[in-house]
Amino acid sequence: MKKVLVANRGEIAVRIIRACQELGLQTVAIHSVADRESLHTKIADESVCVGPAASARSYLYMPSIMSAAEISGVDAIHPGYGFLAENAEFAEICEKSGICFIGPTPQQMHSLGNKIKARQLAIKADVPLLPGSEGVIKETKAVKLANEIGFPVIIKAAAGGGGRGMKIARNKEELKRLLPLAQKEALAGFGNADCFLEKYLEHPRHIEVQIIADAEGKIRHLGERDCSIQRRHQKLVEESPCPVLDRTLREKVGDLAVRLVKTNGYRSLGTVEFLFQDEQFYFMEMNVRAQVEHPVTEMVTGIDLIKEQIRIAQGHSLNLPETITPNGHAIECRINAEDPQSFTPWPGKVSAFHQPGGPGVRVDSMLYTGYTVPSQYDSLVAKLVTHGADRAESIARMRRALREMKIEGIRSNIDFHLKLMENVHFQKGNVSTRFLESF
Ligand code: ADP
Repeated sequence: MKKVLVANRGEIAVRIIRACQELGLQTVAIHSVADRESLHTKIADESVCVGPAASARSYLYMPSIMSAAEISGVDAIHPGYGFLAENAEFAEICEKSGICFIGPTPQQMHSLGNKIKARQLAIKADVPLLPGSEGVIKETKAVKLANEIGFPVIIKAAAGGGGRGMKIARNKEELKRLLPLAQKEALAGFGNADCFLEKYLEHPRHIEVQIIADAEGKIRHLGERDCSIQRRHQKLVEESPCPVLDRTLREKVGDLAVRLVKTNGYRSLGTVEFLFQDEQFYFMEMNVRAQVEHPVTEMVTGIDLIKEQIRIAQGHSLNLPETITPNGHAIECRINAEDPQSFTPWPGKVSAFHQPGGPGVRVDSMLYTGYTVPSQYDSLVAKLVTHGADRAESIARMRRALREMKIEGIRSNIDFHLKLMENVHFQKGNVSTRFLESF
């Protein structure tokens, strides 16, 4: 592997280009017309415009991306997260074109990318999950099944992601009304109408395990992340380790994740997601890519996950100790360009950007003074990560780093994060996925 095309934009494209540079690999950035001045195009060795602002005609448009790959003569593509990162067809096209797709095999993506298939795999691996439908739910059977497992239930799109494609039904009338709506939205949003039912938990935590596996079947888990601070099922703050797990529970969730991955013969970086309530873990899904929140694990383990992911794709075997013990505690705040009250995206020109620094602080961002945040994409503009000897120190560092961070010209949620870091319930680690509903 000599030259890598990064099929993404924003902070993750910057992150991947940095990893490639450290590995001595040449880099090619792709960008839409709206992203001409984006940081990833400036730091890569080459950049290619792949289409207009609309993602469907640029970052998601495979013919343009493959042409860019061919013209620039790359031998690998890193998909980042979002866009084509979990698209098995794209991985297959790369493979057929003789280009290394930095991720799992298309077959592994097929079997884990669909939540219904992933549930079936969890059953095979004897990994606990919430009671729910065995496969696609039929309207005629939904009420009977929901009565059996007990309301409330959650309707989920098999192909859903990013916190979208989920609806909660608290009684049979709601279920009858919401199921056809969920199917219609799933078809429009994900190109697949299949939905399934699952028991809805009222106050779970979201706990996920970072996995890394090589082609020889060597698997390591790198501890857990707690991602319970969410708005509308979308993560806003992530931390590692989880503040409420003792050693036994930590080992248990790590073992469950490894067991699932082993059953699938998985290779590459991946995350196994669980809900945790009343001391029980329930498998939710597996993400077959690098996650937005991977830096918290990097901070506590000292392992560069993106470089490891690339090395595995190059065919190297994993060279990590059997057990990896995290050092200290890390937190990540997702800094979004948005109105702090209404949470609506707030794109525009950044008149000044000042990054915090000092001990234990990391900023992954595409921002610079004079950059215009385009309106067409996700509102995530920076990830602020702090690391401390313990949770109290990483929170204290986050508070001072948030105060130091300045983004002028657009609105952001920096003050929201400050308020959260100052909240006593958060400080005690006393939260669930619904914490922000009453914040
Ligand atoms: P996505 O793939 O869209 O991220 P997930 O299946 O990972 O969807 O779920 C995202 C979030 O939705 C979870 O972190 C949790 O807050 C909520 N959620 C999902 N399933 C359930 C459930 N059965 N009970 C309660 N909350 C759930």
